[in-house]
Amino acid sequence: MTRKPPAWMATLPSSAGRHAPVARRSSAVAGPLAPASPTGLGLASERARANMIAQLARGGVRDPQVLDAINDVPRHQFIDPGLASRAYEDVSLPIGHGQTISKPSTVARMIELACAHLPRSQRAVARALEVGTGCGYQAAVMARIFGQVISIERVRGLHEQARDNLRGLRLANLRLAFGDGHQGVAQGAPYDVIVVAAAGEAVPEPLLEQMRTGARLVAPVARGDQQALHLIERVSDGEWQLTVLDAVRFVPLRSGTI
Ligand code: SAH
Repeated sequence: MTRKPPAWMATLPSSAGRHAPVARRSSAVAGPLAPASPTGLGLASERARANMIAQLARGGVRDPQVLDAINDVPRHQFIDPGLASRAYEDVSLPIGHGQTISKPSTVARMIELACAHLPRSQRAVARALEVGTGCGYQAAVMARIFGQVISIERVRGLHEQARDNLRGLRLANLRLAFGDGHQGVAQGAPYDVIVVAAAGEAVPEPLLEQMRTGARLVAPVARGDQQALHLIERVSDGEWQLTVLDAVRFVPLRSGTI
């Protein structure tokens, strides 16, 4: 891609890693379609993000903490500079390795469902697991809400990409793991919240076992060509309750690591 990055990308701190084209600042604002903002470049991305938040709220996202967390995470730092002008549209975008960054509305919906049972005070000490780090965006949003977050990815290139993307955000409560998420991450269990970002034919058994009693898990589950969001609550030691929700479209949950 040879497209220029949008003007606001020039404001990224250099610690943000490979998506921080600080040197391109002047060319990014030079064209007639990118008038200089009298209020500063950083406000352009903040405005785009604020518009996205308003759109998510209109679309039914009610949880103010989830909306705030999405507002706090610069999504443009998680995608290729050539696509960054679309960072605040409600779309999934390619991140390499045949994978995608999820739509903001999907991220919001999954997290909102997964923590609806927890008041803010409990979220602050909750342990959360994400399966399918991808570029790290949803993990960053979760780290703004939960006390401890572990996110696991099976593609080493993406695991490393996520590490680079997240470095500048300094989220001390977020740990990235490399491995097959079918096994969960036993070291961090039991979890209060589990969010799965790829669709399997069933929710893997180890993930159910790694839920604390009272915990919630949200995962897309495939049936043939269709996928639906499954919400599972662990109601007691040996009992899980399933609610099947929206039709969704996720990349497949795959076995092993690459
Ligand atoms: N959470 C991401 C979405 C990434 S797409 C976001 O913030 O937008 C889903 C990711 O799940 C892909 O990166 C894919 O490689 C990963 N994945 C698929 N199967 C997996 C498995 N068994 N264990 C861990 N990650 C897996």
